[in-house]
Amino acid sequence: MHAPVHPSNMSSNHHCIFCDLIRGAAEVSMCYEDSKVIAFMDIQPVNAGHVLVVPREHYEVLQDIPREVGEHMYGVATRLIPIVQKVAGAEDMNIVVNSGAAAGQNVFHYHIHLIPRKHGDGFDIPLPFPGSEMPNRHLLDAMAAQIGASLRNASMKSHATS
Ligand code: AMP
Ligand code: ZN
Repeated sequence: MHAPVHPSNMSSNHHCIFCDLIRGAAEVSMCYEDSKVIAFMDIQPVNAGHVLVVPREHYEVLQDIPREVGEHMYGVATRLIPIVQKVAGAEDMNIVVNSGAAAGQNVFHYHIHLIPRKHGDGFDIPLPFPGSEMPNRHLLDAMAAQIGASLRNASMKSHATS
């Protein structure tokens, strides 16, 4: 799962526009780069200053990202957020990850959106979702316990294999 797919190993039906621009084969407006990560301007920004933070290696979705790459990406995003907000003259920021087709991902090279926001700009991520109801506390507790147990289980397995 965690192995990156190198662009040279991708079949033609796995063509990736972000790999193209990382290797210099497509136009890009880059605002940050290091050995693991680049950040560039979204070609169709929600608002001016919309930035994508992208790993140089091709990973499709969140589960594929090795922990150190994910942590580095969030470190870069955290440094960029106040700068982007200031340069864009924005009031606030949305930090968005669409991981997987059902979650609205269109480019299957994992990335973090940094989206400058202003009151009345017309963009919205409606939370709480108007169509959802508030479950009772038993259901919330049961889900929390299930997640906690799975987390402990996963940590035990990773300790056993390390
Ligand atoms: P997502 O739906 O989360 O996969 O978002 C993909 C984002 O990539 C969209 O906001 C697009 O506007 C952006 N995008 C697609 N192609 C390019 C490109 N060549 N350069 C910069 N941004 C791009
Ligand atoms: Zn790619």
